[in-house]
Amino acid sequence: MRQPLIAGNWKMHGTRDSCRALASAIAGDLGTLQEAEVAIFPPYPSLPEAADAIRGTGIALGAQDLHPEAEGAFTGAVSGSLLRSFDCRYVLAGHSERRRLFGETDDAVKRKISRALASDLKPVLCVGESSEQREAGDGEEIVHKQVRIALAGMDSSVATRLVLAYEPVWAIGSGRPATPEVAAEMHALIRDDLRKFFGMTEGSEIRILYGGSVTPENAGGLLGQEEIDGLLVGGASLDAASFSAIARAAVGAYS
Ligand code: PEP
Repeated sequence: MRQPLIAGNWKMHGTRDSCRALASAIAGDLGTLQEAEVAIFPPYPSLPEAADAIRGTGIALGAQDLHPEAEGAFTGAVSGSLLRSFDCRYVLAGHSERRRLFGETDDAVKRKISRALASDLKPVLCVGESSEQREAGDGEEIVHKQVRIALAGMDSSVATRLVLAYEPVWAIGSGRPATPEVAAEMHALIRDDLRKFFGMTEGSEIRILYGGSVTPENAGGLLGQEEIDGLLVGGASLDAASFSAIARAAVGAYS
């Protein structure tokens, strides 16, 4: 049984005060939730404030990115070990905004995943096709390729620390989520890949989240699909009431 994960990616939003207030409100609403795991991904400088706000609750902290090297002269970048020392448990790797706006390649994503694992972080590997790729009939191949390159050579003993997130680029921030059926189809393909890579047992244990224009209204339908093990939420995670409603939809869908 895979425990559902509801993750909130705050991207480059907020100030010190507003991030602290959001983390506190989420801690108040969801801090004792048992049925689903909840994680928040604030911008880097807000990590310590967020860590303070959620301390003692069941909510996990995550970061939005990390550098593939352990440390060194990489101005502006942040290392996995630094994130771990700020109580981060998760880190995103390969979010489509990083790939599209910052030129992150599949190979860089692979290196980030290895670094996250070496830093005792759980990487959330984000994959997804653009609307042009989907319209050209290449969506599945693109997602296979992103998964294949990121996970090549990985030992199945670390596989269960991984989380995947299927985030079609056309659904992110567009108000046009994938239908539960469209998302479920891609999740099933990713599940097959994971089983091929890591074997039936480990490949079945890895959680696959859906992300892209999730709201309290559509969360239940998405989570009702067998291979959708949670949600990566952008815009709606910036409002504590909406994010809490999404997390509670997971309780409904899995009980
Ligand atoms: C995201 O950026 O990961 C995301 C899913 O954003 P949104 O929910 O706003 O579409």
